[in-house]
Amino acid sequence: MKTYRYAERMSLVKPSAIRELLKLGADPDVISFGGGYPDPDLFPLEKLSLVFEQVIKEQGKSALQYTISEGLSELRLKLIERMKRVGVTCGLENLFLLQGSQQGLDLVAKMFLNKGDIVITENPTFLGALVAFNPYEPQYATVSMDEEGMDMDKLETVLKANPNAKFIYTVPTFHNPTGITMSLCRRKRLVELANAYDVIILEDDPYREIRYEGEQLPSIKSFDTEGRVIHLGSFSKILCPGLRLGWVVAEKELAEKLCLLKMAADTQNSTLNMYAVNRFMELYDIDEHITHIRKIYKDKKDLMLETLRVALPQSVKYTNPEGGLFTWLTFPEGVDTTRLMKERVLPEAKVAYVPGSTFFPVKEEVNHCRFNFSYMSKENIVRGVTAFGRILKEYC
Ligand code: PMP
Repeated sequence: MKTYRYAERMSLVKPSAIRELLKLGADPDVISFGGGYPDPDLFPLEKLSLVFEQVIKEQGKSALQYTISEGLSELRLKLIERMKRVGVTCGLENLFLLQGSQQGLDLVAKMFLNKGDIVITENPTFLGALVAFNPYEPQYATVSMDEEGMDMDKLETVLKANPNAKFIYTVPTFHNPTGITMSLCRRKRLVELANAYDVIILEDDPYREIRYEGEQLPSIKSFDTEGRVIHLGSFSKILCPGLRLGWVVAEKELAEKLCLLKMAADTQNSTLNMYAVNRFMELYDIDEHITHIRKIYKDKKDLMLETLRVALPQSVKYTNPEGGLFTWLTFPEGVDTTRLMKERVLPEAKVAYVPGSTFFPVKEEVNHCRFNFSYMSKENIVRGVTAFGRILKEYC
């Protein structure tokens, strides 16, 4: 007889029923709008194979060696320059590299959360953030959103009710899962409220550069005068996710503490990958590459929205994001998108999406779902959405 004496925190670490359901979406016959994958045809394979070869040949000994936990300084300096474009002035003491922004979510939670502490999130919010925070056993207080993002009056009410909240987690630009972008005036108000109620903001901004229309907005970090905004960025959507490269920008004291946690977690990012991305940015124009990505995704987004318009009953509403990878569908009350997918959409239409309930930290709403439009081919976008629409006509 053996007993695994797990830590209490493991009670909150469990596979969700929805993740199990989404595994079925991996069947090659299924058209899956479920994951948040970039289009792999947009990975610059030839350029990357060239830079990896060059780096190994020319800098191999350093590129395969351990390095500092903060990561390659040359690459960090390039990111410091890029942060200026969104109004953020920072130095090497503020910015270090992560294994994707996902690692930042874990490290920030590890740094701040004791069991029972309050984390404030948008409602709904990014599932990966909940998965990262949950092992630290927080409680969630949520704030509803409208087309301008988090409702700031509601946030103030939540802050009043939770004066010791540890941080406000937000995905301000092309929010996952809704696609909504927080307006300029709300970004400013968010920082004002955080100052007034003395709370940290965790700004998770991996989609910022994938904009199809409208003007780029300054990051929330750019309004930070008190060192209370932690900003996370990522190469996953602008280059490729498999290299696992993201970054954090934070006040020096916070950056130092976070970096100590990173050192304990994984020592450092892959030295080779950091050298390769640095070389990629020296040899090629990453902005040109991002412009190309934007164009392809905009076409896919327009096609998905047009197909949704034609195929779905009018009672189904969906967001029209200015960027990012997702649209968020809202069905009439009474439609349960998990059941719908399990009982009809997967078996009959062979289509998968992410049922919305999984994105609500406290009180699940069942009549939403998230559709991704970056990964599937244009042909499959039309086929999948049309097949989905046929089934829906019976429901709404
Ligand atoms: N934050 C958000 C809002 C995301 O959607 C994702 C992944 N899609 C991540 C963080 C993690 O991204 P990565 O670790 O690949 O940078």
